[in-house]
Amino acid sequence: MSIRDIDASGKRVFVRCDFNVPQDESGAITDDSRIVAALPTIQALLDVDASVILASHLGRPEGHDEKWTLKPVAQRLSELLGQEVQLAPDCVGAEVEEMATALTQRGILLLENVRFHEEETTNDPGFAQQLASLAEIYVNDAFGSAHRAHASTEGIAHHLPAVAGLLMLKEIEFLGKALENPKSPFVAILGGAKVKDKIRVIENLLPKVDALLIGGGMMFTFLKAQGLEIGKSLLDAENVAFAKKVLDAHLDKIVLPPDVVVTPVLAEDAHAKVVRLDQIPEDYIGADIGPEAQLQFGERIRAASTVVWNGPMGVFELKPFSGGTRAVAAAMAECDGLTVVGGGDTAAAVEHFGLTDRMNHVSTGGGASLEFMEGKVLPGIAALETK
Ligand code: ADP
Ligand code: MG
Repeated sequence: MSIRDIDASGKRVFVRCDFNVPQDESGAITDDSRIVAALPTIQALLDVDASVILASHLGRPEGHDEKWTLKPVAQRLSELLGQEVQLAPDCVGAEVEEMATALTQRGILLLENVRFHEEETTNDPGFAQQLASLAEIYVNDAFGSAHRAHASTEGIAHHLPAVAGLLMLKEIEFLGKALENPKSPFVAILGGAKVKDKIRVIENLLPKVDALLIGGGMMFTFLKAQGLEIGKSLLDAENVAFAKKVLDAHLDKIVLPPDVVVTPVLAEDAHAKVVRLDQIPEDYIGADIGPEAQLQFGERIRAASTVVWNGPMGVFELKPFSGGTRAVAAAMAECDGLTVVGGGDTAAAVEHFGLTDRMNHVSTGGGASLEFMEGKVLPGIAALETK
């Protein structure tokens, strides 16, 4: 259930957000998109005259540490909403309880970093109860933290009516539609650095997809499994056997790029060249999928009804090796089917190419979206009411 299914009018509502924003050395927020993403839920609650109590973690503080205060978040939120956002000195305790009780309708109180208490990450029941005592309804809008069973993401949900916020709802709807009920042809694209990080994603997706396109650093472990020379490319030696097993069982579904961009060094001014898959020179690094692979992958993606993508096709942070990742993003932008992107670096790449708005959904949760793709039940989602 989500905030659309409940009546929050005039109620005190505890909203767990993901305000874990990047900051520079002075503490200034360098990218406020996570704060912006939380606005629709906050606004929807204000519109029904609720009192809004916001909570989040920031960084990984050990105990109360002013370096990780949510003060900059309170300030930015207040600017974006055009109204005062009070910052509580803590997230639990008598003073905070008083502030929560004194909160007027349409008032907003931001609790201080929940990770100032180790009880947050240990999901301490007493601490969760204290958080819950501040409000009458719990809303979880922090998809990026839904894979963690912490007090403010899971424990608290056992004490209050618990529903999803609008951001969380969008994540569940799109990832769910794409992965649980995909319209065929269903094409998945996997890349990124290591096979190890993606084993469970591969295992979960293979039975569902019509085609699995493999690029990125992980492709070389699959090439190695086929007995090909991969030069100095990234190798996940421990998972060659896994790659071989997967190739043997699903040869009909797995698509490897026909050509590769190789380079003596990973640098902006590198003398890169394109070679066939079976022609990687001994002293070269495979750093991107080649132009023919871009065309092949692009064709399959454009013709798909459902596309799920995780993992860049190459070292996209460097211009000479960004072509494959850009081509996949562009093909998805042109695809008429449902297009979903997951993974922190992949989302950053799509954003970098200016194509975020052209996708049906770009997940805001790096680790959480990966676990969703693994087919895992996320504790922060499981704790919410179902219809
Ligand atoms: P995500 O965060 O989207 O799940 P990953 O963290 O798995 O993605 O992978 C992203 C990283 O993979 C990027 O930093 C990129 O440079 C790297 N990568 C992609 N292709 C290669 C390659 N051929 N060799 C080495 N690293 C690669
Ligand atoms: Mg990553």
